[in-house]
Amino acid sequence: MSTVLAFRGGVHPRHNKNTDVLPSIRLTDFSEVDIPLHQQIGPPCTCVVSPGDYVCVGQVIARSEHPMAVPIHSSVSGTVKEIHHVVSEIGEPIEAVRIESDGKFVDDPSVAPPVIESREDFIAAVRASGLVGLGGAAFPTHIKLNPPADKKPQFLLINAAECEPYITSDYRMMCENPDQIIDGILAVMKWIDIPRAIIGYEDNKPLVSRIFEHELEKRIFKTGECHDIRVHKMKTVYPQGAEKMFIYALTGRKVPPGKLPHDVHVTVLNVSTVRQIGLYLRTGMPLVRRRITLDGSALNIHGNFNVPIGARVRDIIESAGGLREDPTKVIMGGPMMGVALDSMDCGLIKANNAILVFGSKETRVPPESACIRCARCVMACPMLLQPAGIDQAARRKDIEMLTHFRVMDCIECGSCTYSCPAKRFINQSITDGKKLIRAEKERYASEQRLRTASQKASSGKEEQDGKSVPKE
Ligand code: SF4
Ligand code: SF4
Repeated sequence: MSTVLAFRGGVHPRHNKNTDVLPSIRLTDFSEVDIPLHQQIGPPCTCVVSPGDYVCVGQVIARSEHPMAVPIHSSVSGTVKEIHHVVSEIGEPIEAVRIESDGKFVDDPSVAPPVIESREDFIAAVRASGLVGLGGAAFPTHIKLNPPADKKPQFLLINAAECEPYITSDYRMMCENPDQIIDGILAVMKWIDIPRAIIGYEDNKPLVSRIFEHELEKRIFKTGECHDIRVHKMKTVYPQGAEKMFIYALTGRKVPPGKLPHDVHVTVLNVSTVRQIGLYLRTGMPLVRRRITLDGSALNIHGNFNVPIGARVRDIIESAGGLREDPTKVIMGGPMMGVALDSMDCGLIKANNAILVFGSKETRVPPESACIRCARCVMACPMLLQPAGIDQAARRKDIEMLTHFRVMDCIECGSCTYSCPAKRFINQSITDGKKLIRAEKERYASEQRLRTASQKASSGKEEQDGKSVPKE
């Protein structure tokens, strides 16, 4: 174990890991859930149940044949009430299955550990478990585990950085389920044929190395097998857990803009994702619950809670102890990259790992002032961008300058906004700038399509005209 490389830039917000010593509590007191049918990067799934159907925990309720999609399973047992539209956490309408829970949490009889004899079986099992990246990106895990043949991974990196303030759900997972995490790592190493794994964590998590050392020693003692799994401590600096920074810290490899981890022969999985693989291989129970951190000054009780997917934010808060004051801001995720909710009626999705509920003291937004060209945002940017330039270009809707400042390479970590003394809304400018570029690309593509169609039409007409003219 050793402290490893750190990337350039980043910021040091207060950790506020207030809940890291509190054991997780399983919440079951939900009269109904709204399970969204779009929970991963890729298209939404199609509902396969109807109102009135009785469903069990772990039963498939929606699926899609699209290669990027994974099935969605019921997180409670009970009766399907309706398939309707709800508002997602980003404020968009989304189809969801509402299930009235009978409170019994009856498992689906078909739930059983998968039989795996080959790499293909393993990837199919990971897909069948409904697994997506649980670090927040929701990228389908079966795709990550199947890189092109010429990009065979040399390292499996387990992302246990959990660098966002407040969130401790991964840390509690490591304290409470290290055996399942190691099961998952060994399965990925075996079936995907990755010789070496590294678990990377930030040095504000005191027990991680001892937990895994103990777990690995126990296995060597039991089975006599020794695997190349190492545990590396990293400097606590935000955004250490961002994929590109994480890869650099542990391997010294740089993922070029527009490329993916497998381009540098690395596979990165979040520690909760790999634990879910371990759990699924043992029990066959797909992804139906998530461990989330609840914190913030407006809550009565803070802690980590194991919650059924689809449970509404309002019900989770109520079930976990309720509110001490009217919240002024509710965030799904961490304070740096999370999404501020318009409504507490949206259902928990697979990628969520925290709900932060703040009162008025913590959410006072100071007024924005003019840029003083101090370059603190530039120093903080881990992607070596010029956030102040992006901010100005986005406000001027200057697409050429946005392209020049490489807005699309921004990982939206929020370090620039955090470090800005003028309190510029740089993150908002980045979001707007990316939207402008996407709209421009879409406009160009549709123009191209129209041009091609009209060229085809006119050449067809010419052919027809040619035929109609008698040849001499
Ligand atoms: S420009 Fe993007 S990547 Fe750079 S600090 Fe700001 S949000 Fe992070
Ligand atoms: S940190 Fe703020 S004030 Fe300083 S250069 Fe960047 S945008 Fe301007």
